[in-house]
Amino acid sequence: MTRRLVYSIAVLAAALAVGADILWCRPAAAQAPDVATESWSGERAMADIAAQLKFTPRSLDTPGHQATIDYIEAQLAPTPFKAITKQRFTYRGDDGVEHALTNLVARLDPGNSRRVIVATHYDSIVHAYRDAKNPDAPMPGANNSASGVAVLLETARVLAGLPPPPFGIDMIFFDGEEGPKSLGAGDPHWFALGSPYFATHLGDFYSSRKPEAGVVFDMVCYRDLRLSPELYSLANARNETVKFWNIGAAVAPSVFLNAPTTYPVGDDQTALVRAGIPSFLVIDFEYDPWFNTTEDTIDKCSAARLADVGRTLVRYLYAR
Ligand SMILES: [Zn+2]
Repeated sequence: MTRRLVYSIAVLAAALAVGADILWCRPAAAQAPDVATESWSGERAMADIAAQLKFTPRSLDTPGHQATIDYIEAQLAPTPFKAITKQRFTYRGDDGVEHALTNLVARLDPGNSRRVIVATHYDSIVHAYRDAKNPDAPMPGANNSASGVAVLLETARVLAGLPPPPFGIDMIFFDGEEGPKSLGAGDPHWFALGSPYFATHLGDFYSSRKPEAGVVFDMVCYRDLRLSPELYSLANARNETVKFWNIGAAVAPSVFLNAPTTYPVGDDQTALVRAGIPSFLVIDFEYDPWFNTTEDTIDKCSAARLADVGRTLVRYLYAR
């Protein structure tokens, strides 16, 4: 993902205006539904991160990329999300190199026309370009990108033990979020590949009714996790963003902050929004000095913080 500074002044002004509204929505405890979330295990999510790190590098066109796909499929097999569609496509970069990409779409209750998207990306950056000593080293990516995958996998396990919600859920593991050129390694012209492809092929999954909401996770394991409502999300999916943050504030008040980000963050939520699906991003983008360096390793992650995020997600889903 990247900071996107190309949004218009009007969009930013609107985002700031609605961002201020979030302060009016507290206290939040009454909005958190009474759903059992204790079974959401931060330790199991940490194990998901550790497993992915063994496949590093996990960028496009690597064996670790395919190993990550295999791991996701294996972990979902015992859950209600075991029916997985692999949305395959290719992208040819400016350098003439063609990349094979695969979005994984795991569907709960696929016959239900009411749907919600829960998404992340599983590809990692090709090299740790912000690392002062080893900018060409493989990117471990414990936080970016293994943590989002871990949140989705553990949530799938937990949902297996809860009553089915009255709507279907599509867990989407997007490919190519890090982009085509140097796979996002500092490319100033970054753009995601997997989510725009999905967003322009909605007919592959939805015959008429679009999903009513989408939530995207990225960089959510940091031991000092602080989550602020993201500007683009507030501008385009205000109600869903506020609902999620209010529930989060009840679950983990030190993690979910009132004040919005001071800049929009480009990630997979933007393509979903452009496709007409109100979607928001959950990200802790303040991850220096480790962001996209060789130090993005599992010791920076916390089982407790992962559980804060996962339990908020489960409550959010059952609050519909
Ligand atoms: Zn990411």
